[in-house]
Parts: sequence; C-alpha cells; structure tokens
Amino acid sequence: MITASLLHSFRFRLTLWFVAILAVILAGFSLFIFLRQVQVLRTETETRLTAQATQFATILRTPIRRPPEEEHEEEFPGFTEENLFFMNEHLLFAILNPDGTVTQKSEHFPMDALPTLTAAWAKNPTRPIEYTLAEEDEPYETQRVLFLFMPIELEHDLHAQLVLGSPIDQSHQLPRLAVALVAVFGLTLVIAFGGGYWLADQAMRPVQTITRTARDLGEHDLNRRLNLHRPDELGELAATFDSMLARLQAAFARQRQFTADASHELRTPLTIIELETNRALERPRTPKEYEKTLHTIQAENEWMSRLVNELLTLARMDSGRAKLQLEHLDLSDLAVDVVERLTTLAEKHGVQLSTGALEESVVNADRDYLTHLLTNLIENGIKYATGSAPRVVVETGTDLPHAWVRVTDNGPGIPPEHLPHLFDRFYRIDESRTRDDDDAEAPSGSGLGLAIVQSIAHAFGGKVEVQSEVGKGTVFTVWFPGGQARG
Ligand code: ADP
Repeated sequence: MITASLLHSFRFRLTLWFVAILAVILAGFSLFIFLRQVQVLRTETETRLTAQATQFATILRTPIRRPPEEEHEEEFPGFTEENLFFMNEHLLFAILNPDGTVTQKSEHFPMDALPTLTAAWAKNPTRPIEYTLAEEDEPYETQRVLFLFMPIELEHDLHAQLVLGSPIDQSHQLPRLAVALVAVFGLTLVIAFGGGYWLADQAMRPVQTITRTARDLGEHDLNRRLNLHRPDELGELAATFDSMLARLQAAFARQRQFTADASHELRTPLTIIELETNRALERPRTPKEYEKTLHTIQAENEWMSRLVNELLTLARMDSGRAKLQLEHLDLSDLAVDVVERLTTLAEKHGVQLSTGALEESVVNADRDYLTHLLTNLIENGIKYATGSAPRVVVETGTDLPHAWVRVTDNGPGIPPEHLPHLFDRFYRIDESRTRDDDDAEAPSGSGLGLAIVQSIAHAFGGKVEVQSEVGKGTVFTVWFPGGQARG
C-alpha cells in the first residue's frame, strides 16, 4: 500500500525522471570517454608500430654474414637470435617470402588470420589493419591487434614482407577504464537518486501541508490559513489557497446569514398569525372581529408568499437552475409594458410614473425575468418617491456595445455609506420604512428586491449601477450587452 503510493508519488516520479535524464547524459559521456580512449590508444599503437616496423625492416635488410659454404644457398631475410632479443613480448611478427610462405614468425602469430590480413593489405596498402584475435590465441585473449605490412627489398632482387602486429590495448587499460566508468556511473546514479528524492521531498513539503490542511478542513474551521509566505510558485499556490479559503469563509458566512435572515423574516408573520388566531380563539368574537383577524392573517400570508417566491427566485438564480428563455427583446418595448402595468399602483401612491427617452435597445434575455427586474426597480421608485410632485421616470438607450435601462425617482436618496451594501440580501436602510402595516398592498420591503435585480442582471451578463444624492433622488441603471436592432 505504502509502496504503491510511494511509486505513484510525484516525488518519486520526479526523482526517476531526474535520474533517467542524468543516466542518459552520463552514459553518453562515459561512452564518449571510452571511445576517445580507444581512438587515442589506436593512434599511439599505429605510430609505435610504424616506427618499429621501419626499425625492424632496416635490421632485416642488413645482409647476414654466413659461413662461405652456405653462401650459395638462397637467402631469405630473417631475424637472428640477438635481433629477436629486442622484440617486444607483445609484438607479433611474420616474415613472408614473395610467394607468400612464412619463413619466420613469432610464437603467437595467428596463422589463420594471415589470408584476411594479406587481402586487406592488398586492398589498401596505406592503412594498418585492425584484427580481433580469437580467445584461443593465448596469451592475448580477445584483443584488437593492429597489423602493418612492411616490404623488405634486398640487393639480390629478392624481397620479402614483414608483418608486424601489436595489441591496441597492450596494458589492458580499456577494461579498467570500463570498470571505472561503470562504477562512477552507478555510484553517481545512486547518489543522484538519494539526493534527488530528498530535494523533491523538501520541495513537496508545502504541497503536503496544503493537502493536509485541505483534508482536515471542515465547514467550521474555514478560518484556518496556510500562511506559507514563500516567494516561489508554491508560495503563490498557498496564497491562492488562502484567498480561496477566505472567499469560501465569506460565502459560508453569507449563506448562514442568509438562512438566519430568511428564518427571521418568516418567523415574524408566523408569530403574528399565531397570536391573532390564539386571540380570536380565546373566546367567542363578533363577526367583525373575526373578519379583522382573517384580514390580518391574509395580509401576513401574502407577505410570506411573496417572500418565499423571492427566495425561490434567488435560489434558482444561484443554482443556475432558472429556466431562461432567451430571446431578442427591445428594452424600450418592455419598459412601456411594465410602466403601463404599474401605472395604477403609482396613481394609488400619488406618484407620476412616466417614460422618458426610449431609444430602441435590443438585448438577448428572458422576458419574464427582465420584467421582474424592471418591476422591482420601478416599485422601489414608487415606494420611495416623495415631495410635492413625486415621480418616477423610465428611460432606455444604447451605448455600444451595451444597452441600458434607467429608473429615476425624486425620492429621499440613499446615503453614500449604504450604497456598497444596497444589493446585499435582506439589506434594508431603514427597517421602519419597510413594512407598511396600514397599506397591505404596498410594495414588499423584504430587502431582497435589489438582490434579485442584481442576480437577474448578472444572469444576462449585465450589471447594475446606482447613483444617489440625499434629498434629490436615486438613479438605477442596468447595463446589458446588446445594442440596436439592424435595419
Ligand atoms: P426592499 O424590498 O426592502 O425595498 P430592496 O432590496 O429593494 O429591498 O432595497 C433595499 C434597500 O434599499 C431598501 O430598504 C431601501 O431603503 C433602499 N432603496 C431601494 N430603492 C430605493 C430608492 N429608489 N430610493 C431610496 N432608497 C431605496
């Protein structure tokens, strides 16, 4: 189990890669050194062999003094005993007479190789011939030997060939070099593996810390941070992780706050309904009193339905499960429709609701959701417009590549300190203004209206802007990607 996870660990694989690359480099380097050494030895041997062959040829050319009775015999050049004394023990030689027969040779001269050597020499008489001796050709074992042919001309027309051979690696340097290279290769790889694994382990420590923290993290300890503060990539990863935790923590806090606020909002009407029914049931009441109680229950019920609908809309938008029927809509047409629908409500509140400049501005959005957005903004305007001539104006236009819709009222305005929180869920500036008990048909004051506006705008790639001046009024502008219809 542990071994399997170790083998799959990034540290192990990183080290393996590192060692593999090092092995390839080292192998290449060792091979280069080895081949270079072979080359050097060969060149040295060739130089030595040429010098020796010249020297021996001179010796062989020197006429041999013989007793007068032997003078008439055909004389082939050959080494005398004292000449042979100078011969290096590693040297192989053979003297060939013109018809190719061997007249003299060293003990270990490989006779089997002679035809091959002669043929190779005949082919290219300028280059020495490299020949690998067979194992049985003691005492040289399997060795590469360099052979050279040197012609020997004598006074009486008679000439012979001296074949001289010398092992390229006379002192067995190459096997020792190979052993040394293999040992260095192996040792370096072992050290590199150990060191590499240690380094990878050190480098991966922060990752392990991050993993452990992430594993142990529960919903309730989102306040934990890694605080690695390293100036490298892992430090960056840890910082990103920390900021993600901060965002998660804020999101969870918002979620908790939202649930608490939603329950609180629902508890109030439920308490009112309970109190009212209990009071009505305490003792027999007059029909008028029952009617009043039922009206109260109905109003609270409406309030709750509205709140639950708003919560549902938000939940659907949040989860991305809202069924959006996208179509090309002209914001000006939509504004006219919504204004017409809300005119009665505005009149009831003594507010003059009108359209201003309505420029054609086409957006790709869902009609129902855009109507919801516009209704919320206009209802707020109607609710808050004040003064001797309260009014709300709706305008549309394009500012390529955007289309916009704007709702302006001459209400009390919003103090600047509230503006950053205006779109937060359940955020209300003045709680006392929100529930108009005397007027059950007054627009809702749950503090969700603007949050919904923002959610809808975001769903269609738009954004909401608010400008407000205390005592003068408020302007809400919603921007969407879009423009004018062609043609
Ligand atoms: P509500 O349903 O309570 O109106 P909203 O989310 O629509 O909730 O608005 C949040 C708060 O913003 C409100 O409590 C109100 O104080 C303030 N607000 C919204 N629209 C306007 C406006 N046109 N003029 C002044 N204040 C506004």
